[in-house]
Amino acid sequence: MTQPELKEYLKSLGAPAFRGAQVFEWIYKGKTDFRDITVLPEVLREKLAENAAIGTLKTLVVQKSRTDGTRKYLFELADGNTIESVFMKYKFGNSICVSSQAGCRMGCAFCASTRNGLARDLTAGEIVSQILEAEADTGERIGHIVIMGSGEPFDNYENVSRFLRIVNDPKGLNIGMRNITVSTCGLVPMIPRFAEDFGQVNLAISLHAPNDEIRSSMMPVNRKWGIRELVETCRAYAEKTGRRVTFEYTLVSGVNDSDAHAAELAALLRGLLCHVNLIPLNKVSETGLDTVPRARAEEFRQLLEKRGIPATVRRELGADIDAACGQLRLNAARKKA
Ligand code: SAH
Repeated sequence: MTQPELKEYLKSLGAPAFRGAQVFEWIYKGKTDFRDITVLPEVLREKLAENAAIGTLKTLVVQKSRTDGTRKYLFELADGNTIESVFMKYKFGNSICVSSQAGCRMGCAFCASTRNGLARDLTAGEIVSQILEAEADTGERIGHIVIMGSGEPFDNYENVSRFLRIVNDPKGLNIGMRNITVSTCGLVPMIPRFAEDFGQVNLAISLHAPNDEIRSSMMPVNRKWGIRELVETCRAYAEKTGRRVTFEYTLVSGVNDSDAHAAELAALLRGLLCHVNLIPLNKVSETGLDTVPRARAEEFRQLLEKRGIPATVRRELGADIDAACGQLRLNAARKKA
């Protein structure tokens, strides 16, 4: 619950609203049992313990990288579904990649998260809990969030919005909107709404192709909203918010990685306040798609830079543990089957 929702909830239990503020504050100071929130009257503590819960995740697996401090989590939800999150250490501080849905229904050809379809949307609490669990496990504070785990955040907009309000609340995790990035596969009508609601949050767009033909072959969403419409909407977004858009571009061997593709991409993005993040594909065996050598990603980056498009190759973290993008969850499902 957001702080205002929690205040309403406390009122519904017959307590004054300020008790809601206290409960909110103590949850984010690390209490996991209402009975331990001793500023509350005893009767209220009991009532809360009977009717509500703090934290909703059970940790099934933690994988720790020996080389860079990356930790991957597989969590079980109360209904038995599983999700995953990744904790990463950067020079600028600790960051977490959270899931917004259990599974995904977007159907991108290269992605592990969508292989078994969408199980369900996550509640705001289940998204927040991923951070609380990782903070408790590492003993470290997390200052940056990317919503780039399993799921399409704009397909679960209400709960993702509530999640953003909770983590941004000074009495919550107090994480600045500018330290948060939402990544979408391009549900175009949601972009202006997002700009209106969360103009300070960073927007990343999974582009992955320089034209409709290739993009539609990789991402079914492109058949609904084509690449021109998407890019023009991003142009309007950048103009309205003054914020730079990140385009993620996963390089797949023989599909979208040629010199001509780089030139076409540069032309598509010309004049747009943006940055391209190149990601060598993480191989998912079922997809039959192949990755590119890092050296090729670097060449592709230079082709973009030469044409005036700022680009980077995504650094790889946790290479010695299960690769990114829903693969831990998929492996767990494979083992079950
Ligand atoms: N649904 C959202 C966020 C989740 S995916 C979105 O599409 O943006 C986060 C990023 O990882 C997206 O850019 C996605 O396309 C990319 N991705 C998914 N599977 C991948 C894989 N196997 N290798 C590399 N990148 C992948």
